[in-house]
Amino acid sequence: MTTPTVTEPVTTTPETPTYESLLAGVTDPDGREVLDPATGEVVGRVAFRSPEDLDAAVARARAAQPAWGARADAERTDLLLRAADAVEAAAEPLAELLSREQGKPLNGPNARFEVGACAAWLRATAATELPGETVLDDGETHAELRYRPVGVVGAIGPWNWPMMITVWQVAPALRMGNTVVVKPSEYTPLSVLALVEVLNSVLPADVLTAVPGGGDVGARLSGHAGVDKLVFTGSTATGQAIIRSSADTVKRLTLELGGNDAGIVLPDVDPRAIAEGLFWGAFINTGQTCAALKRLYVHTDVYDEVCAALADVARAMPMGRGLDEQNVLGPLQNRAQYEIVARLVDAARDAGAKILVGGDPDPDAPGYFYPATIVADVDDDNPLVAEEQFGPALPIVRYDDVDSAVAMANRLDVGLGASVWGSDREAARAVAARLEAGTVWINSHGGVHPMIPFGGVKKSGYGLEFGVEGLKAVAVPQVING
Ligand code: NAD
Repeated sequence: MTTPTVTEPVTTTPETPTYESLLAGVTDPDGREVLDPATGEVVGRVAFRSPEDLDAAVARARAAQPAWGARADAERTDLLLRAADAVEAAAEPLAELLSREQGKPLNGPNARFEVGACAAWLRATAATELPGETVLDDGETHAELRYRPVGVVGAIGPWNWPMMITVWQVAPALRMGNTVVVKPSEYTPLSVLALVEVLNSVLPADVLTAVPGGGDVGARLSGHAGVDKLVFTGSTATGQAIIRSSADTVKRLTLELGGNDAGIVLPDVDPRAIAEGLFWGAFINTGQTCAALKRLYVHTDVYDEVCAALADVARAMPMGRGLDEQNVLGPLQNRAQYEIVARLVDAARDAGAKILVGGDPDPDAPGYFYPATIVADVDDDNPLVAEEQFGPALPIVRYDDVDSAVAMANRLDVGLGASVWGSDREAARAVAARLEAGTVWINSHGGVHPMIPFGGVKKSGYGLEFGVEGLKAVAVPQVING
């Protein structure tokens, strides 16, 4: 397929793939095995690319960018809408592949939900406007602020929400006239390759390319002279490496990094009424979510009731292989993450904390299943509270006065999200305003919306995604003065 000229309409109709055809399109018989974390079965094989392959992809993206950036905005918008149609047409096979590779169940807020979010974000990005604005017009000076494409955008992603986060990174960049090179996580390359195949069934050639590989390919992308902006979602440690390697090229960065979100439960709550919201705030995607509730501070007046209600909800949630329709919790995606969760729960138990439910994985069972675990009577300095568990284990810390809860919530060096739970909304909002986090939810945790900016503070990163702010983040401002 050649790059269309500015005036040539793209008329490709997306074909509806099956699971088999989707997988066949991205699997390479000579590649590395990708294993199902629930069963250990081989899902497919992916040829990991070298840094030199990445160079070639960046060169193609650079060559394609001027024509893509010169298209009318309405044309790029239309292509994003058609890309959303293509994702919807392929939704079931995409969800199945995601479930097999990542481990998340089809149902609950998991694989089907993630694929649905991909289509929703593509449509919302197409619907968001970022017009230029006149900033001064006093009769002498006419100054206008407008937004141009940055050029080539690199996108590096994690393994927890691989498809959705790829769309978050890619859709605004394409809308603003950039071409994009994606480096998926080495743990979930098939999901991202398949998604990109589907998007490319409507996009022109070389506008969007995925290069599977390890950290060496990611490092090459983040230091690449041919890449103008990097959007990274992953751990704080890798984000710090990216900041260093981006210095020589003065590359623009958006960094969505790790979190350890606190939730504060005020004494006026109805424990049973909030238990399910608390549970999903913490256990969405089996806890493998950047802005999940990872430490909960509960007022002593309602502590026992909240703990009991949460434990009841946790006991009722089926965990198992993602393709079995009844499950809503799945395995950890990889052995390393399983071991982090096990180590942190053991640390809490060894320190005398009370395991209300879970905490006893079956060492002989297949897959990286760690049961949903609620830990009470744990100290704030315990590693399960102070470190990011990124898995299905929630520590609950008791507090006596709100000031101490706020101090505990703010004491860590990360600040992605936080939440406050209370019947008096204004009182809850007043506590929220004191928390050092990019988003503070009231009576819920972790919900994101394509029109609401999202980003972290402290070592959770900088820059915003979504909405108008998300478009600005993948553009460069230009002032026309005169
Ligand atoms: P990770 O940092 O280990 O890996 C992320 C990506 O970076 C992978 O694609 C990896 O190959 C690549 N990479 C590794 N070394 C690199 C280097 N030197 N230069 C460039 N790229 C390199 O993160 P992960 O384990 O995949 O994801 C889990 C972490 O991500 C958690 O801390 C979680 O909180 C965070 N996360 C944050 C958000 C957010 O929006 N803030 C969203 C999801 C996950």
